[in-house]
Amino acid sequence: MDFAFVDCHCHISATEFQLDLQDVIHRTRQAGVKTLVAVTEEVEEFPRVLQLQESYPDLVAPCFGLHPLQAGGGPAQRSVKPQDLDAALPHFYSHRERLVAIGEIGLDFTPWCAPTQQDRDDQMKVFIRQLDVALELDLPVNIHSRSAAKVTIDTMRQQGISRALLHNFAGKPSVALEGVKAGYFFSFPPAVCRNQQRDKLIRQIPLEHVCLETDSPALGLHRHERNEPANIAVSCCYIAKVKGLSPHTVQLVTAQNAYRLFSRASQ
Ligand SMILES: [Zn+2]
Repeated sequence: MDFAFVDCHCHISATEFQLDLQDVIHRTRQAGVKTLVAVTEEVEEFPRVLQLQESYPDLVAPCFGLHPLQAGGGPAQRSVKPQDLDAALPHFYSHRERLVAIGEIGLDFTPWCAPTQQDRDDQMKVFIRQLDVALELDLPVNIHSRSAAKVTIDTMRQQGISRALLHNFAGKPSVALEGVKAGYFFSFPPAVCRNQQRDKLIRQIPLEHVCLETDSPALGLHRHERNEPANIAVSCCYIAKVKGLSPHTVQLVTAQNAYRLFSRASQ
């Protein structure tokens, strides 16, 4: 594998990309991105991400997952419920050969997003069930964790998960290092350059456990601008600066990490 970027967590099936997808894909390739690990949040997105893989088979690596928050961002946002699995689980099995990971799954205990204990219990049930599916299908997991850093890592370790990416992790460095010990990877989107809050974390996680992501269309350099995979170099350069390494080293090692974790995406 030559020097390439791997965007380990992006939402290329999002409606934000439907109007000008070809241009976005063109800029993605121009930027040297060789693989888009394309996560999903809701069952309605599953067909779209498979369709994108058919259109761009050398680029799009699909993941299926139910996000802890459904209808995210909108007024109907709610915690995922065990009943949501009924519609989703059959697809995990019927398309198992095409998936590179299970995700985006995880826990979001932000108080205004999951205000009740019932919300948090429901999220946990759905999370554990999807971790089980990942183990059964021998797939890594692509993880969302917000206001739940320690409980996310503890749960994955208890379930016997050994292959995981924690995307946009913002927990304490000491908690992240527990994840490193368990063999987990951590990725950071361009938004981490907005301030220095994540610098300590980035410095402490060994490069051998770091991956790159954009989380497009969210988490770009500028808050209200649509983010896209071509911006991945922003994350690369920032991580390089914080760690005192060359961007080239960060690009090379993070791509190796990504293909080791998402082994099915490396062909
Ligand atoms: Zn995401």
